[in-house]
Amino acid sequence: MVRLNEIRTGEKAVDAPAPQDAGLRFIGRIRTPWSDRLVCPRQGRLDGPLCRIEVFEPWVAALDGIEAYARLEVLYWLHASRRDLVHQCPASDGRVHGTFALRSPVRPNPIGTTVAALVGREDAVLLVRGLDCLDGTPLLDLKPDRSLFTPIAPAQPGDFETDA
Ligand code: SAM
Repeated sequence: MVRLNEIRTGEKAVDAPAPQDAGLRFIGRIRTPWSDRLVCPRQGRLDGPLCRIEVFEPWVAALDGIEAYARLEVLYWLHASRRDLVHQCPASDGRVHGTFALRSPVRPNPIGTTVAALVGREDAVLLVRGLDCLDGTPLLDLKPDRSLFTPIAPAQPGDFETDA
């Protein structure tokens, strides 16, 4: 069985150092149709099922203006993942891949990201399509899709630097 917390043949776990406290705040909770990792999509799709992103207070005001963006980057904490593998065999076929060469949920800091289509907002709740996480997954952050976003703050010198 794959994608639970077992180690497959060829995979390598390390003695992971104790986490430093990055001071993360869970700013909400993601509600999806999936309660089983083995059924959850491997990657979300923009025509996938409607999901709810519930934002907690005091962060609801931080949603102001978000309706202007048709797509959002959603960052979430894949809380049920193990965090100690450096080599993984996603297909259980003996082929080994470094964790940072994968988008596996198993990573030292199990941050998931997706681009989701924003369907609507109901006060503290965003309705979106494009997620691929378990129901109840903690929400880390929301941002406009970078391809839709132009910085509002004035340009800085580094914006014009090239390698030439
Ligand atoms: N789209 C994200 C990314 O690329 O960063 C996540 C991709 S990850 C391959 C998606 C898989 O993670 C799902 O198919 C499911 O098996 C697993 N998963 C989803 N929610 C999880 C959670 N809260 N904790 C642990 N694993 C989870």
